[in-house]
Amino acid sequence: MSWKIALAEVSFGTEEYDAIKRVLDSGWVSMGPETEAFESEFADYLGIGHAVAVSSGTTALHLGLLAAGVGSGDEVIVPSLTFVATANAVLYAGAIPVFADITGVDDLNISIDQIERKITPRTKAVICVHYAGFSCAMDRLRSLAQSRGLAVVEDAAHAPGASFRGKKLGTWGDVGCFSFFSNKNMTTAEGGMVVTDSLPIARTIRMLRSHGMTTLTWDRHRGHSFSYDVVEPGFNYRMDEIRAALGRAQLAKLEDNNAMRRIATEGLRDRLAGVDQISIPFQDQALEESSCHIFPILIDKAGRRPGLMEHLKNQGIQTSIHYPPVHRFSTYQSNGPARADGLAFTEDVASREITLPLFPRILPEQLDAISSEVRSFLEK
Ligand SMILES: *Cc1c(COP(=O)(O)O)cnc(C)c1O
Repeated sequence: MSWKIALAEVSFGTEEYDAIKRVLDSGWVSMGPETEAFESEFADYLGIGHAVAVSSGTTALHLGLLAAGVGSGDEVIVPSLTFVATANAVLYAGAIPVFADITGVDDLNISIDQIERKITPRTKAVICVHYAGFSCAMDRLRSLAQSRGLAVVEDAAHAPGASFRGKKLGTWGDVGCFSFFSNKNMTTAEGGMVVTDSLPIARTIRMLRSHGMTTLTWDRHRGHSFSYDVVEPGFNYRMDEIRAALGRAQLAKLEDNNAMRRIATEGLRDRLAGVDQISIPFQDQALEESSCHIFPILIDKAGRRPGLMEHLKNQGIQTSIHYPPVHRFSTYQSNGPARADGLAFTEDVASREITLPLFPRILPEQLDAISSEVRSFLEK
């Protein structure tokens, strides 16, 4: 299917081509100096002590949970209105996802009150997802977690460059997890990053990322060591030099790209203002603090959603749903140990949400086309 306006679009320039060529010419393609440079540039950008590059956002979440001390039988409170990887990672750690409702139809982030209601003696951690790049109430979440002795893991897959009260998202929790999948605000094709201010947590993540080994192939290549010990059965969740180089080029463009996403978001909001049949969430949050990852709208009648999506598709405009709620998937319904109750806002939003196209280089004419097709369908 070739769309006139795709949901998301990547754009690469000479910087990315040069970066990849630099790695290929160097003769070293698995984890090494480019990855180290990417990690330190990412940590500096966020203003945090440590960043560890990994193979995906999903593996970032898995290692983040393990390093935060989550293990077998623990409960982890998560939103259901998220990508399934958020909850799957809890299962990888041997723990039980406990789903908490979102705040409401204007704020699609996990509700701090609902988190509080779901805490039991077995609760070990909370994963918050900054939906669309708009921050969860991190001040309230942090003080709740502190008073109840819970770890906070931020799923910041939507939120590189976003902030809350001037402090970057990903740096509010015990660990922050990023994804560099192709449709995210910055991409390495596949990849992720775990960030933390804790040296012990960073060390654990580095060790688990590479089989639980005490030295790296790169160390041995440089003659720093001949052998190694394995202190835990870890994983191969490493990033490689080609992706790291791509990530460095993309990180350098992130601020500009996020600024363009904000302009496009404002442009769509303006064009859709006054369409009574839809509402646009997050309008009372500061746009300058958001990474504007996606553009969600809520249609008034769930029954009209398929028609609107079909109409837009016929005009070559791609849309999506963020998200089919995780607690509804069959694996979470049938044999999953997950707990899900009291998810009224999640159910409601999941039945009425449509995601419209948004990417940095989207053109004003494309914004015009999207809004006029939404209007023409709903107002006829
Ligand atoms: C993309 C995404 C992930 C998973 O990242 P991958 O890099 O695709 O593994 C996790 N959580 C959320 C909210 C995401 O959007």
